[in-house]
Amino acid sequence: LTENSIIEQGIPEHTVITTCAYCGVGCGFRAGVKGEQVVRMTPWKAGKANEGHACVKGRFAFGYATHPDRITSPMIRDRIDQPWRSVSWDAAVRFAAEKFRNIQQQHGRNSIGAITSSRCTNEEVYLVQKLVRAGFGNNNVDTCARVCHSPTGFGLKTTLGESAGTQTFASVEKTDVAIVMGANPTEAHPVFGSRLKKRLRQGAKLIVIDPRQIELVNAPHIRADYHLPVNPGANVAVLNAMAHVIVSENLHDAAFIASRCERQAFADWRAFIADPGQSPEALAEATGVDPALLREAARLYATAGNGAIYYGLGVTEHSQGSTAVMAIANLAMLTGNLGREGVGVNPMRGQNNVQGSCDMGSFPHELPGYRHIADPATRALFETDWQVQLDPEPGMRIPNMFDAAVDGEFRGLYCQGEDVAQSDPNTQHIEAALGALECLVVQDIFLNETAKFAHVFLPGASFLEKDGTFINAERRISRVRRVMTPLAGKADWEATMAFANALGCDMDYRHPGEIMAEIARLTPTFEGVSYALLDEVGSLQWPCNQDAPLGTPTMHVNEFVRGQGYFALTEYLPTDERANRRFPLLLTTGRILSQYNVGAQTRRTHNSTWHGEDVLEIHAHDAQERGISDGDWVGIQSRVGTTVLHAKISGRVKPGVIYTTFHHPVSGANVVTTDNSDWATNCPEYKVTAVQVSRVSEP
Ligand code: SF4
Repeated sequence: LTENSIIEQGIPEHTVITTCAYCGVGCGFRAGVKGEQVVRMTPWKAGKANEGHACVKGRFAFGYATHPDRITSPMIRDRIDQPWRSVSWDAAVRFAAEKFRNIQQQHGRNSIGAITSSRCTNEEVYLVQKLVRAGFGNNNVDTCARVCHSPTGFGLKTTLGESAGTQTFASVEKTDVAIVMGANPTEAHPVFGSRLKKRLRQGAKLIVIDPRQIELVNAPHIRADYHLPVNPGANVAVLNAMAHVIVSENLHDAAFIASRCERQAFADWRAFIADPGQSPEALAEATGVDPALLREAARLYATAGNGAIYYGLGVTEHSQGSTAVMAIANLAMLTGNLGREGVGVNPMRGQNNVQGSCDMGSFPHELPGYRHIADPATRALFETDWQVQLDPEPGMRIPNMFDAAVDGEFRGLYCQGEDVAQSDPNTQHIEAALGALECLVVQDIFLNETAKFAHVFLPGASFLEKDGTFINAERRISRVRRVMTPLAGKADWEATMAFANALGCDMDYRHPGEIMAEIARLTPTFEGVSYALLDEVGSLQWPCNQDAPLGTPTMHVNEFVRGQGYFALTEYLPTDERANRRFPLLLTTGRILSQYNVGAQTRRTHNSTWHGEDVLEIHAHDAQERGISDGDWVGIQSRVGTTVLHAKISGRVKPGVIYTTFHHPVSGANVVTTDNSDWATNCPEYKVTAVQVSRVSEP
């Protein structure tokens, strides 16, 4: 795609300020509109997340919104082997509601549930969880954050008291040492990646902890000071070893710990971490990292002034994802790197609204604002406002829903904006679960892989067709503004409301601003948020309330949200997903700049020409052993499935580790990923799969 092809689409007649719908940086854009068509996306100079910058996805990859594959009419069918029938919205939601009510009558209240999406607005996610709790009468609601950053929620809430990143992106401008762990900012969060590079060019130091040499390891002029090529699955061991060095060499911030952290918890943790078994040397076989290098990196982080940690799915998507997040928080508390600019714990959220979808109460155990459903006072607040009785029992998580579907106990699913058949691990198991459902309602802009199993298809709206808000990785609430009429006649919040009312609810919102007013009324951290204020100031970082009427750029300044910081014990436990003679290589996965997640949007733009397929990176040593040459087709076999990709001989991975992306359904990386998941949250262990690779003639 070139500038010319954009210009050919026409000169905008007017512009509308909105927010990118791709990654968690949340860049502000001016959408240039001609008639009913967006012809240009120009980065918004006043956007605080991007300050006039943008990456190729936000800038150019918006054409999917009017792609011919868009479905613009609701559709129904009794069985999935029948053709779709286009029907009115009213007929579609009545059909779905009748099926869901019949299922509940026959199989009980808990036999239905919903999955919502981080691609949707806060208002849409809020409505889905309200529909489930008030309309379905259970708490079987989950979000796709389950499969990415749920360990962040658990880990940061446990240690610091709030399920969110601690800083602004701008904070990096005061960072002296950055740790980038299990994240690839220049590919997955490019505008932040550029900001980080700028800081590195100014002299800040960089430690990369990743099994693979990401671009930042060897980027021109900013080569990382340390690259710790951790074995997939051994993050906790690396973090513990770093903490061991800092404690044993007395590099910790004793004054910070004494004044800000729980005394007994620190004493217990210190006794654990000081044990020689936690040293870099003792853990070297597990980590795969040179102990001397690890020691130097730990010293650098502990002593160089402002230390900030940026981490991504390479931390969370493990059987010890939550433990690793807590180990990261431990490191930050240990060194006093919290509560001011330039420091902190910064989860790099993959999708545009991961933070928001979690904030909105889309987990089965939490109402909006991360308040537990079992808490009577919180329940009473929502019960009074919604005029319903709420179930105090937490509902099913996504994997529980799928397991129960296979067992015949879960029979109706409303799936909004999420292609679980492609994005969730162990595709075979997901397809068996979806195929067992009596009624699957899919709401999406395209007939995705999941829709193959659907009985009702509710056409979704792209971000250009609706009003609402997204919340980025720095807790920044930004407006999404409608620039086109919804192609199917309804925005997603209107479709959910219609479905809810067909089920007997009484929702009567005329604009998403009214939904945000309800969120603010019921959620202390959003108390001061309104569309009027957002229009006035551009964006706000929560908490936004009486104490912080213009939001909170840095969290935990004088005390932690939980009061005293909590050092959690973070024992390293190897994953069950071990390499052995049959499956001797460890597969890990990631993203590429020009594509986005399952590729449903970016593959329908000109971007696809830049990355037409997922390929397998393999070290020359492993390739040679298997007679594999660059460009060969290779079969990848794991304990659960097999897929075929082109091989690329690469020095970015070390022997024993292979890597691919997951943007294309044909290659289907998740055909081989397993059901292993984080012990605390069930976040799948996408990042470690033991596999065998062999050369094949054709797919
Ligand atoms: Fe969109 Fe992320 Fe690119 Fe910004 S960095 S333009 S939010 S994809």
